Amino acid sequence: MSSYDVVVIGSGPGGYVSAIRCAQLGMKTAVIEKYQTLGGTCLNVGCIPSKALLDSSEHYHAAVHSFQEHGIQVDKPRVDFAQMMKRKAGVVSTTCEGIDYLMKKNEIDVLHGFGSIVDKNTVQIIGKDTTTVSAKHIILATGSKPIELPFAKFDKERIISSTEALSLKEIPKHMIVIGGGVIGLELGSVYKRLGSEVTVVEFAKSIIPTMDGAMGKELMRSMKKIGVKFSLSTKVSGVHRDGELVQVTAINKKGEEVVFEGDYCLVAVGRGAYTDKLGLENVGIDSDDRGRIAVNAQLQTSVPNIYAIGDVVRGAMLAHKAEEEGVFVAESIAGEKPHINYDLIPGIVYTWPEVAAVGKTEEQLKEAGTEYKMGSFPMRALGRSRASGDIDGVVKVLADKKTDEVLGVHIVAARAADIIMEAVTAMEFRASAEDIARICHGHPTYTEALKEAALAATGNRALHS
Ligand code: FAD
Ligand code: NAD
Repeated sequence: MSSYDVVVIGSGPGGYVSAIRCAQLGMKTAVIEKYQTLGGTCLNVGCIPSKALLDSSEHYHAAVHSFQEHGIQVDKPRVDFAQMMKRKAGVVSTTCEGIDYLMKKNEIDVLHGFGSIVDKNTVQIIGKDTTTVSAKHIILATGSKPIELPFAKFDKERIISSTEALSLKEIPKHMIVIGGGVIGLELGSVYKRLGSEVTVVEFAKSIIPTMDGAMGKELMRSMKKIGVKFSLSTKVSGVHRDGELVQVTAINKKGEEVVFEGDYCLVAVGRGAYTDKLGLENVGIDSDDRGRIAVNAQLQTSVPNIYAIGDVVRGAMLAHKAEEEGVFVAESIAGEKPHINYDLIPGIVYTWPEVAAVGKTEEQLKEAGTEYKMGSFPMRALGRSRASGDIDGVVKVLADKKTDEVLGVHIVAARAADIIMEAVTAMEFRASAEDIARICHGHPTYTEALKEAALAATGNRALHS
């Protein structure tokens, strides 16, 4: 039986990053993955393929809708959907192969097969590399799976999850999206841009309901401009497929029954921790009320040498959060004293304009009774936005009323995903709004909107609005 210092189950961004850090710290490490390719949800059916399709569909949308304004005449652009999907598959396979390279470079053994815990130091692998290995430490990084509504079982053809939506063979005529969260809005954007009718049915009273309320409103305005339809405060009660037709029945905010008809229904109502047949019961590891593996502040399970990270534990289901936890656990095992600032994990929605946020929302500050100041700046007032034609959006800075410390930054804007990192960096150093306002920002850049919003937060000093 091979023996390792660390065995990691799952090769997503949590697992593979953790394995690399363990190897860097001199530990003999193996990674177990049940699929043929490494990289987990993120690389195979998550972040990477969705962003590839978001970029391709955005190019098409620009060619149809804004090239003319920029003085570019092209004959009627057409979508070659098969080529778009082929490119996406190529991006995914190149990225996954990159992980194979990193495993080899760091001398990490990769075992393909389904891993399960036999006892606190033994893992069984069944599949291509059937074997049993011993481990001083085990890291569970088994990720998550789409949540299925009890009345809308995935048939993977017409009633689909994000996984199928990333590999459709045709552009839907009318895609009904259940859930106005991150996946619903990103994949809804892809198909709307490609010509589908898209209707988003959301249970809450706003889209992206966990983000700052103003962001949901701003994004909805932009998405309505490209023709996405929304039905908010609407509770789906049934999904029925009849051949190529899908009917979604729901109760709207007036309490009336409404029926949406389309040819595809994307169910995007969240993801649940994946621990099937992992053998947690063999060692008495507890799960919480949502089926996630329970961990302490050190990410240790109730068995001290077994850790869990990423989507399978509490917290944001984000690749970068999983990566941070992977590094944290590796360094903890090596005896170091790492730290993760969970308050400063940025959240990003890759619609156009993008949405990005870090820190507290205005709703959270109100609920906590924190006295705060707010400064905002509209993207349309920025030279850079007018030059590119991306004038939708707003930057909002929330700062402590007395100390001026920045408590939250919320952005809807072109390239918000990149702008937010300035706010994260500033907040890691506990910057005040005045600090950001006094930093010289390159001109013309989208980041100037953050400076202007910080100026507004410090006392109505925005220079360009
Ligand atoms: P995963 O990536 O889910 O990896 C877990 C791995 O473990 C899988 O490969 C699985 O096969 C394997 N596994 C499970 N059980 C076993 C077992 N018993 N034996 C062997 N192997 C096993 N996050 C972002 O930050 N940015 C984004 O833009 C983004 N876009 C997304 C788009 C979509 C459509 C989806 C679905 C998700 C997106 N996410 C995004 C979320 C992100 O993908 C996850 O947060 C991230 O992948 C979690 O990483 P993980 O390592 O915890 O788990
Ligand atoms: P989500 O939690 O973001 O959104 C789910 C939405 O569905 C919520 O708005 C919720 O109110 C709504 N909902 C729930 N039940 C409903 C019902 N019965 N009828 C109508 N609406 C209902 O979940 P998601 O979009 O499925 O994404 C799953 C996870 O994947 C998220 O946690 C996210 O962090 C991650 N993800 C991240 C990115 C990114 O970082 N850009 C992209 C995609 C996915």
